[in-house]
Amino acid sequence: MDQPLNVTPGRDIHLADFDPDFNDGIDREKAEQETRYHCEKLDGLAYRLFAEAKRAVVVVLQGIDTSGKDGTIRMLASGVSPQCLDVKSFKAPSSVELSHDFLWRVHTAVPPHGKIGIFNRSHYEDVVVVRVRKLVPKNVWQGRYAQINAFEKLLNEGGLTFVKCFLHISKDEQRERLADRLQDPQKQWKLGPSDLEDRRLWGDFTKAYEDALTECNTEHSPWHIVPANRKWYRNLVVARLVRQSLERLDPQFPRFDSSLLSQLE
Ligand code: ADP
Repeated sequence: MDQPLNVTPGRDIHLADFDPDFNDGIDREKAEQETRYHCEKLDGLAYRLFAEAKRAVVVVLQGIDTSGKDGTIRMLASGVSPQCLDVKSFKAPSSVELSHDFLWRVHTAVPPHGKIGIFNRSHYEDVVVVRVRKLVPKNVWQGRYAQINAFEKLLNEGGLTFVKCFLHISKDEQRERLADRLQDPQKQWKLGPSDLEDRRLWGDFTKAYEDALTECNTEHSPWHIVPANRKWYRNLVVARLVRQSLERLDPQFPRFDSSLLSQLE
């Protein structure tokens, strides 16, 4: 059994073509073991990126409520030294943020060279929730796809690699996760009325995501559709993706100035 993580740029993305239960035949124990292995490698790579300080990475996590963004961040943070990471959560914009263009707050959150940024939600909210909740007119959100592509290209040419992950869960799985949150005193705080309202708009969110994934699936910053019904498989896929992107960058320690050796008294 096989399921691609990517779609060729230019082709339409239909989420129904992707099985959120997909696990490539691997069991939980093996997946967790492999994830730990990727995280160990990631730690060394992140340290090299930090030392090199010439390029950066941003892991974008998007998905419907309960899709596992927080859990994915926990997994990535468990493997990488905090000094190499910048985690940013994007909430509904403040009045100051709203008084700028929609990418302003995103640009200020982009990590400096040397770091791995993790975006818990991102500029994609501005073409998804904003569209579903009709917060701006259609021509405005429609124009944003091209603006996002240009923005990501600009950053990419400046040395930033995007690892864009759509955490794909099913409607049934979301029901179970919401029911679990409603019953668990340690998770109830995560729920608000808007989460249940958003569930009623499942179809609208799916359509908005499909269009965003299709329109902003570029050669330089492609989307990855991560099967996320099983948390341990989702973690494995994301850990592997981030590790692979860093391996492609192959960050190098700066050259050592050997004259320093003779200066130690
Ligand atoms: P989360 O669900 O990510 O754990 P919250 O419960 O605080 O955190 O939800 C953040 C909310 O902010 C979400 O409903 C999200 O859709 C909303 N949001 C994020 N970015 C925007 C935006 N640009 N415009 C409107 N709403 C946004």
